[in-house]
Amino acid sequence: MLKGKTTLITGASRGIGKGIAEVFAKNGSNIAFTYASSVEKAKSFEAELSSKYGVKVIGYQSNAADYNAAQELADKVTADFGTIDVLINNAGITRDTLMMRMSEEQWDEVMDTNLKSAFNLTKACLKIFLKNKAGSIINMTSIVGLTGNAGQANYAASKAGLIGFTKSIAKELGSRNVRCNAVAPGFIETEMTAELKEEVRKQWIDTIPLKRGGTTDDVANVCLFLAGDMSTYVTGQTINVCGGMVMQ
Ligand code: NAP
Repeated sequence: MLKGKTTLITGASRGIGKGIAEVFAKNGSNIAFTYASSVEKAKSFEAELSSKYGVKVIGYQSNAADYNAAQELADKVTADFGTIDVLINNAGITRDTLMMRMSEEQWDEVMDTNLKSAFNLTKACLKIFLKNKAGSIINMTSIVGLTGNAGQANYAASKAGLIGFTKSIAKELGSRNVRCNAVAPGFIETEMTAELKEEVRKQWIDTIPLKRGGTTDDVANVCLFLAGDMSTYVTGQTINVCGGMVMQ
């Protein structure tokens, strides 16, 4: 479905980003991906993916929260791959705590990594999308951005912000054939959710009509739809991938 395309995914050394990279490579896309600090994991994933699917794969250590680093990254990826067709703003962190205890640092870190990163990368890739007169941007939000969640004021605000950002970019760039959509996962089994206590996990699962946590493939398949030609008339949307936990 993505043969010959180049996809840039932030935060793909593990978790959902890694799952997206795998599904996209399987569907013929070359993969440029980033990570924050998992150098070894990223190197072995890079080698594994290119040998398994015969596509070009390069991992870049690049802080998505850093404006200048995003510019440098887009330049490097364009030089290495020739172009960028799909951008997936996936990198994200949690710094969960109740508002009473939340520090300014915990607020800023989450906003910079989860929300400012999407501004950084979208801005950095814009020139190439406008030149190509085509592009698909996918922002990884969360159902928590729609519902809110106690102990996650910083995270929920960053994810709600991403939805407003997605709609604005869709309106701004639609006439240039650049689409922008958001994917809102619910409870997906990754290292991020593995940190949760067993009783909290159980509480989440109980609220899911499909009675299971999602897999990274569940999210990656929706991204695949949004990245390629099956969704050429879809922009500005947020698609929930949450086993029915949130319906809207
Ligand atoms: P994860 O397993 O913790 O992986 C996060 C990835 O982001 C890693 O590759 C990490 O790199 C990278 N990263 C972190 N900070 C970065 C930075 N400043 N610059 C570049 N890369 C950075 O997370 P996940 O569960 O896969 O989540 C992926 C996205 O989905 C996030 O935006 C998250 O908010 C969203 N989401 C997840 C769930 C869920 O249930 N898991 C639900 C809703 C939404 P290193 O390995 O180098 O640290």
